[in-house]
Amino acid sequence: MIPFINQLPKDEEVRWLAALNQRLPNENVVSFSELKSSDKAGIELAIVANPNIDELAELKSLIWVHSVWAGVEHLMLSLANSSIDVVRLMDPTLSQTMAEAVLAWSLYLHREMPRYAKQQRKKQWQQHQLVPASKRRIGILGLGELGQVSAKQLQINGFNVMGWSRTEKAIENISCFSGDSGLAEMVAQSDILVCLLPLTSITKGIINKSLLNQLPTGSAIINFARGGIINTSDLLAALDSNHLNHAVLDVFEHEPLNAESELWQHPDITVLPHISAPTNLNSASDIVAKNITTYRTTGQLPTTVNKLIGY
Ligand code: NAP
Repeated sequence: MIPFINQLPKDEEVRWLAALNQRLPNENVVSFSELKSSDKAGIELAIVANPNIDELAELKSLIWVHSVWAGVEHLMLSLANSSIDVVRLMDPTLSQTMAEAVLAWSLYLHREMPRYAKQQRKKQWQQHQLVPASKRRIGILGLGELGQVSAKQLQINGFNVMGWSRTEKAIENISCFSGDSGLAEMVAQSDILVCLLPLTSITKGIINKSLLNQLPTGSAIINFARGGIINTSDLLAALDSNHLNHAVLDVFEHEPLNAESELWQHPDITVLPHISAPTNLNSASDIVAKNITTYRTTGQLPTTVNKLIGY
């Protein structure tokens, strides 16, 4: 028996249970609420989607959990002192979805859609010089599962693409940077800065006044990772001083974004409701089922999140 521990609406939970059970015919994937006390003692593996930690704590034999989300920051904080291993979703379909979002919103900034929308509201007929994609420099913070595919997509679309990661990388046609000096070097050349970093103790607030000041004047930022990576008041100051031109924000420290937040009304911010890369139920279920089947036959866990570095 494998519990699916989640805080999803009931109909969504039902869809996940059906998809998982269909792909795991030798298992019985059940809602946590269906577990009897006698079942709980023997559970070594759970499938999770933003689980209630108190429910996880009831499973005393739990060895590992498989998340159906790619981002597991909240879970890692809750399990920091626990021996439970966390496997997050690594799904090429999700990476492609994110790459599409990165391309879409990079094009939105590159072709100056916020500027022309403002002009339309003022009935202002004014053409601005077109910058070719090859002259538009896009820096990506994070060259992992999502960052690398996004970088490739941008490069295929003719942009001048750079990327920054913790460890050094060599990726064809992408200028790769690492370390503090690499960050400064890349940021200073980024007309558009895309954030695809995990939220860790090191990346928390990394997009702050000092980093924003290093961006070229008139640059823009896209955050598709986690809200806590950006210092919001520093971002607002950079926009209000016209150092930064625009910010596309899909993620926030508190979601849903509070109705009182000044971000909603800001003329130079595009607010999105965490939609850049939703998990695809079918591809994610395939991957979770494959990983669990391998574990049952070989005892081998898929790649787990590194608790020391937090991602
Ligand atoms: P990943 O495969 O773990 O990649 C993370 C990347 O960030 C890696 O390149 C890593 O460097 C780099 N990195 C981490 N810490 C760093 C540091 N201190 N300095 C420099 N680089 C650092 O993660 P992913 O699957 O691409 O996902 C990234 C994040 O996207 C997730 O954590 C989640 O928050 C977010 N996400 C958002 C949505 C959405 O809908 N908005 C959907 C899915 C995921 P190395 O390569 O050297 O390890």
